[in-house]
Amino acid sequence: MSADKRLYLGVPVERPKAAFFDFTSCEGCQLQMLNNEATLLDFLSLLDIVNFREAMSERSDDYEIAFVEGSISRADEVERLKKIRAQAKILVAVGSCACFGGVNQLKNRFGDLDWVKREVYGSNPVDSTEVRPVSAFVTVDLKIYGCPVKKEEVEVIVTNLVLGKSIVHPSYPVCMECKANHNICLFDLGEPCLGPITRAGCDSWCPSNRMGCWGCRGPAEVANVEQLREIMLKHGFSEEEMIDRLECFGGFSTYLSELK
Ligand code: SF4
Ligand code: SF4
Ligand code: SF4
Repeated sequence: MSADKRLYLGVPVERPKAAFFDFTSCEGCQLQMLNNEATLLDFLSLLDIVNFREAMSERSDDYEIAFVEGSISRADEVERLKKIRAQAKILVAVGSCACFGGVNQLKNRFGDLDWVKREVYGSNPVDSTEVRPVSAFVTVDLKIYGCPVKKEEVEVIVTNLVLGKSIVHPSYPVCMECKANHNICLFDLGEPCLGPITRAGCDSWCPSNRMGCWGCRGPAEVANVEQLREIMLKHGFSEEEMIDRLECFGGFSTYLSELK
């Protein structure tokens, strides 16, 4: 076996060169990927990682897969992103920021960027544009959802990618996983939840910990917002509370424009 051949769970795999990049983000998704010592070595042995600022000091621009974390909120980020796209055969958007704009896109809802800049930066102006997802500027081949992404799901997706297997995201909503986890519905405990319309895959992370879903993974394939509104109103929550949640990560922006 050549020195470059590695084993993943005992199976020899070709290791594509991969690079990790961050744009406007909290870097929590990168931390998630480095998390979980029990599986980290197996995960890292799948890829020949040539660039990962949070994990190593070496740098190379020779890679086939680019994992991109973060939203785009500066002109120089657009240029950098386009260079990454030109180099990578596969570009993976990692996390809600990269997929939808994430919590950063809340800035856009004020509708007056100059006012936002003055409020936040005062007399220290910085270059800051409207926040957009990665797909607004370059082609995205694959998305990994979540804020943050879930390490276990990333491992499955990256393993399938490297082994040439198809990658299928759950099309059903978080409620399915929540029921499978035998949780009491939070609506019955007095808390709102976007589980009925949000794409599953997090194993109902929040409801299983007694917190309502905020929709970080974006819409399920069939997202019946009208029905969610009925559920919210029936349990004493206002449309404003629902919209607050729907706006949080940017995944429901097309649905929101229909609501307003
Ligand atoms: S998706 Fe969430 S955890 Fe990931 S970088 Fe953005 S804010 Fe951080
Ligand atoms: S707690 Fe949320 S995810 Fe769970 S069943 Fe109720 S609405 Fe669905
Ligand atoms: S329950 Fe909702 S907010 Fe929580 S991780 Fe899952 S999709 Fe995201």
